[in-house]
Amino acid sequence: MKELIIANWKMNPATAREAARLAKETVRRVKNLKNAEVVIVPPFVFLETVAKILKPITYNLKPKLGAQDVFWKNPPAGGGAYTGEVSPRQLRSLGVKYVIVGHSERRALGEADHQINEKIKAALKDGLKVILCVGEPLIVRRKGRVAAKRFVKDQLRKSLKGVSNVKGQLSNVVIAYEPVWAISSRSGGRSDTPEDAIEMAKFIKNFLNSKFKIRNSKLIYGGSVNSKNARAFLSPEEINGALIGSKSLNASDFQKIAESAA
Ligand code: PEP
Repeated sequence: MKELIIANWKMNPATAREAARLAKETVRRVKNLKNAEVVIVPPFVFLETVAKILKPITYNLKPKLGAQDVFWKNPPAGGGAYTGEVSPRQLRSLGVKYVIVGHSERRALGEADHQINEKIKAALKDGLKVILCVGEPLIVRRKGRVAAKRFVKDQLRKSLKGVSNVKGQLSNVVIAYEPVWAISSRSGGRSDTPEDAIEMAKFIKNFLNSKFKIRNSKLIYGGSVNSKNARAFLSPEEINGALIGSKSLNASDFQKIAESAA
């Protein structure tokens, strides 16, 4: 199984020109990697810019395009009266293949599990692959690992409620385990330990297997992954890739991380 390496640019960079430069540089550096499937996830406003850079590439290692969020309705059936939202089909029309749903930075702005659930169902219905972010905040982690596991299980249960595995739909959901306190903007670059991340990865995979009958679920880790610790997170068989935030804004750092995919 190829490692999935996601470049989540968040609300960066500042201009379309910089976005084009970063996309070209990233593509140039990762285009020959055989062990990694790379997904570039720019802000909505730069999706088309990046799509145009990816489009002419014909070899099969071409990076994929992802979006940082998605709404749960499509125009015109659902009506287009949702100012500021972007629908699954609109994303598909730009060549988007993956969507991140439930990122902790969106949850911090008020996104609730039931909205995440609607987004997942809508995205899957329109053929998008979902990267569902889950992870405990520091206050929960301080209570211990049992509490952290209970918290994550609750997020998974609510987010995936009513999503059936008929037609293998759930194989299009990748879980990103991102302990909130380990995301670099909060932690100053301190990641979780690979051992703890592996333990949580096993727990999540077992839960998905028992509750949703997903046997080969894909799980990636996110939270202060850098060129030095990437190998430790990417080598264990329980972890199938990484979600990279701040280090994806430097193409050279990102290349080194992606090259760590064994
Ligand atoms: C993230 O925002 O999902 C993330 C993993 O960020 P960083 O790599 O900067 O910790």
